[in-house]
Amino acid sequence: MMVNMPPVLIGIPWDGSSSFMRGAAGAPARIREALWSASSNSWSETGVDVSAPGALDDAGDLELSADAAEARAAIETGIGNLLARGDTPIVLGGDHSITYPVMRAFHGRLTGLTIVHFDAHGDLYDEFEGDRFSHACPFARIMEEGLASRLLQIGIRTLTAHQREQGKKFGVEIYDATRWAEAPLEGVTAPLYVSLDLDVLDPAHAPGVSHPEPGGLSTREVLSLIHRLPCAVSGADIVEYNPTNDVRDLTARVAAKMIKEVVGRAALDAS
Ligand code: MN
Ligand code: MN
Repeated sequence: MMVNMPPVLIGIPWDGSSSFMRGAAGAPARIREALWSASSNSWSETGVDVSAPGALDDAGDLELSADAAEARAAIETGIGNLLARGDTPIVLGGDHSITYPVMRAFHGRLTGLTIVHFDAHGDLYDEFEGDRFSHACPFARIMEEGLASRLLQIGIRTLTAHQREQGKKFGVEIYDATRWAEAPLEGVTAPLYVSLDLDVLDPAHAPGVSHPEPGGLSTREVLSLIHRLPCAVSGADIVEYNPTNDVRDLTARVAAKMIKEVVGRAALDAS
């Protein structure tokens, strides 16, 4: 089995492609604080200590220009550098626009990539408020450029007619918030990338996002889906955490928990 190791945290403090409100650029530092907080320990539910030597490295944050095109280029280069040395990037966003340049970095290094995308939103707009690189658009760009062979979306609950059309056009497998439990994760094959927008969770579980959307999944439901993944990940992102909307760091803790379980899942296949 192909396994890239080790998992490496990389922060992308970018919220310049957010609609409605900014704040996600402050996420990486707060998620790291929650991850290493003495209020919990560093073990995953699958029995992996993410603080053990080599279990989870940290490459720090990318330094980004305020210009969106320059930032995208820097993200693609920065992630490409990690992949070139065999790392498994665990990306801390940032808004969801970052997933497009991240996937560009993966393209050409891995063929036949499957993306499992957790989100309240399809992020499939052809353009949003005049911006084709908005955080509402990354999966349209990814599918247009053939950066993934398969896209499974889970937990979606805000599809417009336009986004439904886009989903059909690109062959997206959408397991919306009424059918999330039916997502055929057991049939997913490597290489696998997980993109986790924290607003897939109900705002009661994760209030610290820019677009809280009622009717979402519980923390336990998302964890159980991660545990059902049948293979290690070649990379993952946790995006859209917005500390300015958080309540007592609750959502940072959810993000940290998700990282532990994604890393724990990856380590099982490496052993
Ligand atoms: Mn999203
Ligand atoms: Mn979303």
